[in-house]
Amino acid sequence: MKDGQAKQKVIIAGGGTAGWMTAAALGKVLEKVCDVTLVESDAIGTVGVGEATIPTLVTYNRLIGLDEAKWMSAVKGTFKLGIAFENWTDLNHRYIHSFGITGKDHWTAGFQHFWHRGRELGVAKEFGDYCLELIAAEKDRFAHLPDLGLNYAYHIDATAYAGFLREIAERHGVKRREGRIAEVRRAANGDIASLVLDDGAELDGDLFVDCTGFRALLIEGALGVGYDDWTHWLPCDRAIAVQTESVRAPRPYTRSIAHEAGWRWQIPLQHRTGNGTVYCSKYMSDDEAQAKLLNDIEGRPLTEPRVLRFRTGMRRQHWHRNCIAIGLSSGFIEPLESTSIHLIQRSVMRLMRMFPQHGVHQPDVDEFNAQTAYETDHIRDFIILHYHLTNRTDTPFWRHVRSMEIPESLAHRMRLFRETGRVFRANDELFAENSWTQVMLGQGLMPETHHPVADVMSEAEITKFLDYIIENVNRTANGLPAHEDYLKSYCPAA
Ligand code: FAD
Repeated sequence: MKDGQAKQKVIIAGGGTAGWMTAAALGKVLEKVCDVTLVESDAIGTVGVGEATIPTLVTYNRLIGLDEAKWMSAVKGTFKLGIAFENWTDLNHRYIHSFGITGKDHWTAGFQHFWHRGRELGVAKEFGDYCLELIAAEKDRFAHLPDLGLNYAYHIDATAYAGFLREIAERHGVKRREGRIAEVRRAANGDIASLVLDDGAELDGDLFVDCTGFRALLIEGALGVGYDDWTHWLPCDRAIAVQTESVRAPRPYTRSIAHEAGWRWQIPLQHRTGNGTVYCSKYMSDDEAQAKLLNDIEGRPLTEPRVLRFRTGMRRQHWHRNCIAIGLSSGFIEPLESTSIHLIQRSVMRLMRMFPQHGVHQPDVDEFNAQTAYETDHIRDFIILHYHLTNRTDTPFWRHVRSMEIPESLAHRMRLFRETGRVFRANDELFAENSWTQVMLGQGLMPETHHPVADVMSEAEITKFLDYIIENVNRTANGLPAHEDYLKSYCPAA
């Protein structure tokens, strides 16, 4: 920071996971460049869900300097190696989308081509049997491994996580202001000038980060940027969450169990289990959903069930004028692949890369919006895939999602995979080839053929190749400690 240069005044509106993730990162990395104030209202509270994550959170935590074991104890976390999808493809069918790499790719062709050839020859086992993370998850085992370790994420207590982030943020100079935002004032040029709180206090700033959750007080309430509605592709619009006592050792994976009009999650923490149901109100009433959830959960409820309403879609602009929306204020896809916290993290990183130190520049705004929209569109396609690619016809909901029109970008990917076994990760897309392959195969889409490089190997060679991978996977997985034992020694709940 050059002498005499004024610090940018950043106001973060909202203190949920989005607000505090933004505050902690700005505080830690740009403390000398900006003055950050976060305003939140205890009376309003946070959405209170968001407990399953994906491996990119490991990177964010490193960026803000978290001690993993200490943090895991504080958030009563467990390790997550993937998600088990039950009853999605068909009733009584199950597969795991794991965070690992399945088998071994050749530079010309992904492992699925070799597996497909092995399958035709009758020498291949299930696709997932060739993935260490998946087999470790099935065996309830986990450990950090030296060198190329397991690729993992976490299940966390979201409220405790926000508290942890707050502590880091405040240590790095972020100021917290309690109060309800009653009014958003605009400047003559149309930018946001200040936030007026219930008690009359006025907070002015150069840059405003809207982390007010579904309310989107600044980006929509004040600036009215508009919303692209995706309910025609992702029709679920309600959720009910309830926490229960744990009835078994925590599994190192999330369970996603499809039901008549949506699905139910089960997220194991060290001290309790997070549960919830996601459903489409057109096909299931709130009363039905609640009764079904309370009937299906294992363990005594610890909280009252809470209904959450949402509309899937994305804000037309994530950054507009001097306001950036991060978190639920910027849109919501659905919690199916636990991507919301990841999207928060991505927007925070982007904000730091494009931090408007000398005022807002439109090219930065355009770049930020283009990158965010691109990334979100691809995640949207991945989530739609789970609903659309199903054999289920047992209820009107499943008949609807199975036959609905889907985005051309997704239709192309499915055609390419069906006809050739090929799938490509485009640019900075979150989900790589292996994720698409696991879910497309898991949901029952078998390629018609494979790459010719797989035919170069003789039957004996391909058998040896496949058996070698399985042997390695099983040897390593069997050598891992039980997930529960590892948690007790590495990061017992504080
Ligand atoms: P919120 O938590 O709603 O926070 C909003 C903040 O704004 C609060 O502090 C509130 O007090 C403040 N505020 C609002 N209005 C005012 C006002 N007028 N004055 C002052 N303050 C105000 N994500 C995942 O990554 N994994 C998951 O497993 C997952 N599961 C989910 C399940 C469901 C059913 C839902 C709905 C979401 C899920 N998400 C999940 C998303 C995740 O919960 C959110 O991305 C995350 O919690 C961030 O929320 P937020 O901070 O944007 O909003």
